[in-house]
Amino acid sequence: MPLEMSPASTEHWLEVLEAQGYRLTAPRRVVVEVIAQTDRALSPLAVFDIARIRYPQLGLTTVYRTLEKLEALGLVQLVHQANGCHTYIAAPAGHQHLLICEYCGRTLFFGGDDLGSLIDQIERESGYRVHEHLLQLTGTCPGCHTD
Ligand SMILES: [Zn+2]
Ligand SMILES: [Zn+2]
Repeated sequence: MPLEMSPASTEHWLEVLEAQGYRLTAPRRVVVEVIAQTDRALSPLAVFDIARIRYPQLGLTTVYRTLEKLEALGLVQLVHQANGCHTYIAAPAGHQHLLICEYCGRTLFFGGDDLGSLIDQIERESGYRVHEHLLQLTGTCPGCHTD
């Protein structure tokens, strides 16, 4: 099962944004770089704190709007946290599932889908037709569990 580290190609993201006619101002670019280059799921506030070091005049609204734009383009995805907060991580290419550390937010994606027979069974029993699924596993990464 291939485990993929997430940091995406920042250059690719910038090309996609430019192709969409998105004006890459300096503060937007810093936000894009922060979220493209981390393997940790980050809240908008965490992105703000990191990006502000590189661009002190950055506004929080720019962070929210840039993250929303990246999500709309499929470049980042929302991660649901146990505490009800949302964080963002660079989206994988294609259909993959998320493995996330509940302590530090480090994230891996994995393929390999054995959900087919479970979904078949659920469809039979419920009468629903299932069109898609999201799978997120939460635990502790090698750096965070002590045993
Ligand atoms: Zn961890
Ligand atoms: Zn799947």
